[in-house]
Amino acid sequence: MARTTTCDVAIVGAGLGGCFLALLLGRNGRNVVVVEQGAAIPAAGADFVKRPGMGVLARHGLGSLVERHALKRDIVRYYHDGEAIQECRYPDGFLIRPYRELVEVIYSCCSMEGVEFWFDSRIERLERDGDRVTRLALTDGRELRPDVVIAADGTRSMVRQALGITKETTAYPHMMRVATVPLTASVARLNRLYFNSRGWFSYLYPVNEEQARVFVGLPLEDDREVFGGGLEADVFRDFITENDDAYDVLGPAHWQQIPVAAMRVPAYHKGNAALLGSAAFACHPMTGMGMSYTMHDAEILAGVICAAEGDPALLEKGLETAYEPRRHAHAELIDYGDALAGTFHDRETYLEVFREDLHVFGDTEPTGGGFVTALR
Ligand SMILES: Cc1cc2nc3c(=O)[nH]c(=O)nc-3n(C[C@H](O)[C@H](O)[C@H](O)COP(=O)(O)OP(=O)(O)OC[C@H]3O[C@@H](n4cnc5c(N)ncnc54)[C@H](O)[C@@H]3O)c2cc1C
Repeated sequence: MARTTTCDVAIVGAGLGGCFLALLLGRNGRNVVVVEQGAAIPAAGADFVKRPGMGVLARHGLGSLVERHALKRDIVRYYHDGEAIQECRYPDGFLIRPYRELVEVIYSCCSMEGVEFWFDSRIERLERDGDRVTRLALTDGRELRPDVVIAADGTRSMVRQALGITKETTAYPHMMRVATVPLTASVARLNRLYFNSRGWFSYLYPVNEEQARVFVGLPLEDDREVFGGGLEADVFRDFITENDDAYDVLGPAHWQQIPVAAMRVPAYHKGNAALLGSAAFACHPMTGMGMSYTMHDAEILAGVICAAEGDPALLEKGLETAYEPRRHAHAELIDYGDALAGTFHDRETYLEVFREDLHVFGDTEPTGGGFVTALR
């Protein structure tokens, strides 16, 4: 016989979106179950928390907890064809903290709020009565009967598909790879982002006192040529020009391919179910804002769910009026990421397209301006 659990909110996915929303709801006395297919919090993901995300964390008393072991930086220098072209300054700085560590901080706070996590658990099917999800059946025979369902299950969201919300994805014209390498002096000194006329890009930055992260994105043909038979880092000499001490660590590194694409959906909710984080939108990682927007979205969702107090009509109204408009902020970010990604080969167009407001402030209120300095 099925083991049935009732709850106020079932959240599918224990990434940043799912954990942060669970914490906010738990703090407000909601009975929350988070269903995660993995054995633990996901490891892969992002490293940067920018101003909008720092603001959300501070509003919920998590600022110092996250900052305690984070690196704080305030400048990114950009290069084209090996030449420094501009610097972008962040007046409040931004944080670097590996994704798993960040999510674990939030997850550990959830346990104090009585949030239940079901790891190694997968949803087999959703049952609906009209637009309302009434039951989530798990592969291990358990079932959940929630008032509200949140799809925080990433870009391939099974819940989104079951709701019949279609997605539109746009692939980028490059293959992206990432490696974690020993930290060298030049990478410790400054975050540097390189582009060149062949449409290549690379970003090097420290993740802690000992390690650095390196992203490389090359058009598909170049990727095959450069990485196909093992990387000879000398191929980057005219490209990654001010991190000479990193060549020795790039060659032997373990380069992982990461699928990246922009993703848009036509609606963020249906009945009593809503999409959150990468289940709802994906933009080019170079914007560095996905997590910041997701935490702000979770804040809005928590407000809507708590204000509805279990009333289905109020919930739907809140989702429609307060949550759906987030699609406009996301669309602006996705369009911007697409525009940037299409200009890596062309310095002048790249500089024209670059928006310091979106890099520094995202959708929060900009203060002052002129944070970009031309270096040419
Ligand atoms: C290469 C890259 C770099 C990025 N860098 C940055 C950055 O520096 N700064 C930034 O702000 N943003 C960045 N982003 C975006 C950021 O990673 C996302 O905004 C963020 O991870 C969204 O979190 P999430 O909780 O929605 O998704 P995820 O972290 O993907 O979590 C989804 C969870 O759902 C689980 N799941 C999936 N299916 C099921 C199922 N059927 N049942 C149960 N569980 C399921 C998965 O196991 C996973 O744990 C980057 C993205 C990429 C791709």
